[in-house]
Amino acid sequence: MKCKVDGCARKAEYITQQLCRAHYQQLRKHGAFLMKDKFKPNKIVKRGDKAWIILTDAKGMESERAVIDAEDIERVTGMVWFWGQTAVQGTYKGKTISLGRFLLRPRKGQVVIYRDKDYLNNRKSNLLKGTKQQRAVNSKTPLNNTSGQKGVYWVKGRSKWTAKLQKKGKVYRAKYYDTFEEALEARQELERKHQKNLML
Ligand SMILES: [Zn+2]
Repeated sequence: MKCKVDGCARKAEYITQQLCRAHYQQLRKHGAFLMKDKFKPNKIVKRGDKAWIILTDAKGMESERAVIDAEDIERVTGMVWFWGQTAVQGTYKGKTISLGRFLLRPRKGQVVIYRDKDYLNNRKSNLLKGTKQQRAVNSKTPLNNTSGQKGVYWVKGRSKWTAKLQKKGKVYRAKYYDTFEEALEARQELERKHQKNLML
């Protein structure tokens, strides 16, 4: 049985009142339902092969936008998505599920890894199925492509570090490495090489 509040897709855990836990508690505490707007299906904006799910706060104001692939619009339409602190969440078959999990359908025991660590980015190119350990490794890598070290940067698509040196319109590239330190060394090697060439 579903909660009787309009648009709320949660399971009614309080059978006699026909209410989900959240609405039951609201009614007890405040004598009214506060989160009505939160339970309206989200607006979705499409542009090219991307689409944005507009997330709103309890007052119904836009708070965040979750990006998905346009081809997934149909799957998420009509559902209620909200920003749940660490992930975009919705209700599916009476249970709370993250948008990434809903789209990627990992097996039990597997987790969804957000390559760029942006939980609002739910495009499939950003989502990976993996273990908790793999996710922990991923979360240690920096949030963006820059390392703070000139010429050393993280390559999202490969999940590797690399380096490059740009001089006089020419770009010298290093290989891809697992660690920042290796890429930094490669960058210094490029600098040394290039300096030598200048002196010859
Ligand atoms: Zn409810």
